[in-house]
Amino acid sequence: MKYISTRGGAEALGFEDVLLAGLARDGGLYVPEVWPTLTPDTIASFRDKPFVEIAVEVIHPFTGDEISRDELRRMASEAYATFDTSEVTPLVEIKPGLTILELFHGPTLAFKDVAMQLLARLMDHVLEKRGARATIVGATSGDTGGAAIEAFRSSKRVDVVILFPKGRVSDVQRRMMTTPTEPNVHAVAIEGTFDDCQALVKAMFNDHAFRDRVELSGVNSINWARIVAQVTYYFWAASRIGTTEPLSFSVPTGNFGDIFASYVAKRLGLPIDKLIIASNENDILPRAVATGVYAMKDVIATSSPSMDIQISSNFERYLFEASDRDADFVRSSMTSLIATGSFELGRTGSRLKQDFAAVSASEADVADAIRRTKTAYGYVLDPHTACAFVAAERVAPAGNTVILSTAHPAKFPDAIEAITGARPALPAHQAHLMTDAEKFDTLPNSLSSVQKFVLKHCRVAAGTPQ
Ligand SMILES: *Cc1c(COP(=O)(O)O)cnc(C)c1O
Repeated sequence: MKYISTRGGAEALGFEDVLLAGLARDGGLYVPEVWPTLTPDTIASFRDKPFVEIAVEVIHPFTGDEISRDELRRMASEAYATFDTSEVTPLVEIKPGLTILELFHGPTLAFKDVAMQLLARLMDHVLEKRGARATIVGATSGDTGGAAIEAFRSSKRVDVVILFPKGRVSDVQRRMMTTPTEPNVHAVAIEGTFDDCQALVKAMFNDHAFRDRVELSGVNSINWARIVAQVTYYFWAASRIGTTEPLSFSVPTGNFGDIFASYVAKRLGLPIDKLIIASNENDILPRAVATGVYAMKDVIATSSPSMDIQISSNFERYLFEASDRDADFVRSSMTSLIATGSFELGRTGSRLKQDFAAVSASEADVADAIRRTKTAYGYVLDPHTACAFVAAERVAPAGNTVILSTAHPAKFPDAIEAITGARPALPAHQAHLMTDAEKFDTLPNSLSSVQKFVLKHCRVAAGTPQ
């Protein structure tokens, strides 16, 4: 199994190299050279398989022979043992035909744990095999940082530095980054915005001498291994719902990672009716579907902050597929997006309309959905999930619909309290969070001070024997 870049200018790599590289050298994203498929018999056999076994069947075709089934099974078992239920991502039918897929039972209460817990083990495994180390530097607006620190906190080969905008993440989100005590994980409050944090990370990747010295690696959602790990739960949901009719999925969407995973599930052979892109008021994708033009606007702050995004990075992977793998088209579209803030979808626009429905939920829609589902079904949606609920209602597919729930409501207690009047409690396994001691550094928005910090704390640069 080889991977090629969406921009056509980087060498094809195997799974392990793609895992460590993240972004391709030509600025593109990696996709499989050939899409694997699962036979209908294999998919039917998932009915009797637990989550971990389904993960092995779904992910192994993408690793090729670089990672064996047994190694994958061991890593997946460890990764999903950190979840608070053996079902890993349980399903809750709130009314006939409408099911919530709860992706928030991992240690940081958001769906990012599903991929990050496995990614950390895959990276450790590959680095161990190569006798190498890596340093991960990432920027977070909230959920990714906590998931990364939690997943890598016991890694022997990876040091993690997460930059977050000081005073601009919720208390729960900050504490998930600042309470782990292991010496290889570092949360750093930057005196600036999320955009400043992201710019610092980008600058470190562009400083090639620095990048090589610390073996810089990334875990943001463009990493192919994260996408692949998210494909499992689409098959899991279908296996447990167990109808022969194709399902529809409504997916809270920001960087287009999770919804692209649903597209991968379809390519693998999962019968799917509608794939619904659910956005909040940052509606670039619904506008693109409606108008055939992908045009950026300013980011609006909403109650679903993990979807407050204008450039959906993984959309590039879909563009590559929808253009029949036209790397020139992808490259010129991305150049135009940076230069002018928009590009024309051209013939990929009609494909997009066939493959996806897309809905933007307003803040009023979100509040209304949270109140209504609480009253009607006694079920409290988080604001991200509420966008997917609104989108599913509006598209109203004929058959069974699955709403992906990407976060536990207790992760956004202020928003939920403002809407319902009641503050959601943290689950028991996170009850200690608000009283544990915090450890973090604060740095100015300055590349040289952040680089100095990384050099001081990462074991690669400190000359630890490899
Ligand atoms: C990251 C995130 C999303 C968006 O997922 P993408 O894969 O970036 O589209 C949605 N909801 C929550 C809670 C998230 O943390």
